[in-house]
Amino acid sequence: MSKVYNWQLGREMEYPYEASYPDSQFAFIFNTNRCIGCQSCTMACKSTWTFSKGQENMWWNNVETKPYGGYPHHWDVKILNLLEEANPGGQGWGGSAADVKGPYGQFNGKTIFESALNNVSTEGAQKALGYLPTDEEWSAPNRFEDNPTGAQKGQRNQHFRGGESLPNHKTWFFYLARICNHCSYPACLAACPRNAIYKRSEDGIVLIDQERCRGYRKCMESCPYKKSFYRATTRTSEKCIGCFPRVEGKDPAGGGLPMQTRCMSACIGQIRLQGLIELNKDGTWKENRKSPIYYLVHVAKVALPLYPQFGTEPNGYYIPPRWVPLPYLRQMFGPGADAAVERYSAPDRELLAVLQLFGKDQRICHHYEIKEGPKVYETTVRGKKFELFNDTIIGYSRDNQKIIEVTVEDPLHIRSDKHANSI
Ligand code: SF4
Ligand code: SF4
Ligand code: SF4
Repeated sequence: MSKVYNWQLGREMEYPYEASYPDSQFAFIFNTNRCIGCQSCTMACKSTWTFSKGQENMWWNNVETKPYGGYPHHWDVKILNLLEEANPGGQGWGGSAADVKGPYGQFNGKTIFESALNNVSTEGAQKALGYLPTDEEWSAPNRFEDNPTGAQKGQRNQHFRGGESLPNHKTWFFYLARICNHCSYPACLAACPRNAIYKRSEDGIVLIDQERCRGYRKCMESCPYKKSFYRATTRTSEKCIGCFPRVEGKDPAGGGLPMQTRCMSACIGQIRLQGLIELNKDGTWKENRKSPIYYLVHVAKVALPLYPQFGTEPNGYYIPPRWVPLPYLRQMFGPGADAAVERYSAPDRELLAVLQLFGKDQRICHHYEIKEGPKVYETTVRGKKFELFNDTIIGYSRDNQKIIEVTVEDPLHIRSDKHANSI
């Protein structure tokens, strides 16, 4: 084991390999407040990469209804339980939020790597605490779709009473879209006895070498997010490839510029924003104040890692759903959840503008600038004054080409009476 620095945990942690970081890191943000569970992302991935024989149960992108849904079934409850059993009562956070080296304070519990240190089973030492899902657990990708929970759960007609209001709904669920997190410390890579899994030095995308893989499924067992899948027809494991030809700028539609992946580009709800993050030598993020991903994660702090306590330093970030009880959100997104919900619920001028960049263009937005516009609305949100300015945000590619220009207020088009009923 080596010591590596995990900034999401605010401390060093044990990892089976020495630290090594890519030049830039594939990263993405999903805004759960906007996801409508339409599964367009799921089908965009499936129709591009996993439509062949043996890939029937392979959903590199899936969207599950929380709290009950999950693919494979109950993946997160199961790994949380394993961690709790390994370190009873100790999986807590402490300290205070610092800069980019520890924005959520410090995790005092044990990660999946640390929990496995003394875990030698009959099958040999584990590199990460995990479990292999059963065939049954892989059988239904969208079980419990739209099943709510809450204080009135089980009461007759709970859905029809209405009267729900923020900050917390009494009856709630939300959609959690998931892909491989192309983690900085991948558990799949750590566990592979064939060294078949590697992290690309150019963009941090994690891939499985199909020539080396022998289908031992150690990656499936160890990935806490369960984003590695077994293919019986080839007897190898496969996973999300981060649509790397698009990220490399090889898709003709991008004119040579890095493009967002298929699942990002196809998103109907415009909940997704993808980027490439520049890293410091210790794996923390280089300051890039005008990168939308950097801004949302490290400045506005509205986008949080999914289960940071697992310890893989996932590169997928989520803006938490603002109607969901905070204890649930803290467990899922860490101690930054309270501040993230507060900030998103009454966004300031810059945040409101940056949120407009989601889903506007298939090319990757590297940085932005904002041109100020007039004030068009004001009200009170959560006891605070809220002002809406119709600013314009302009997004640029890495080589400074303008790729997005959009205002905070959506333009309003009124049909003429003559065509009132036409589409
Ligand atoms: S999410 Fe899982 S499969 Fe993807 S890089 Fe992380 S550990 Fe590996
Ligand atoms: S990034 Fe590409 S390969 Fe990965 S889930 Fe999305 S569409 Fe599928
Ligand atoms: S396409 Fe977008 S809105 Fe639809 S389910 Fe996927 S992430 Fe959610």
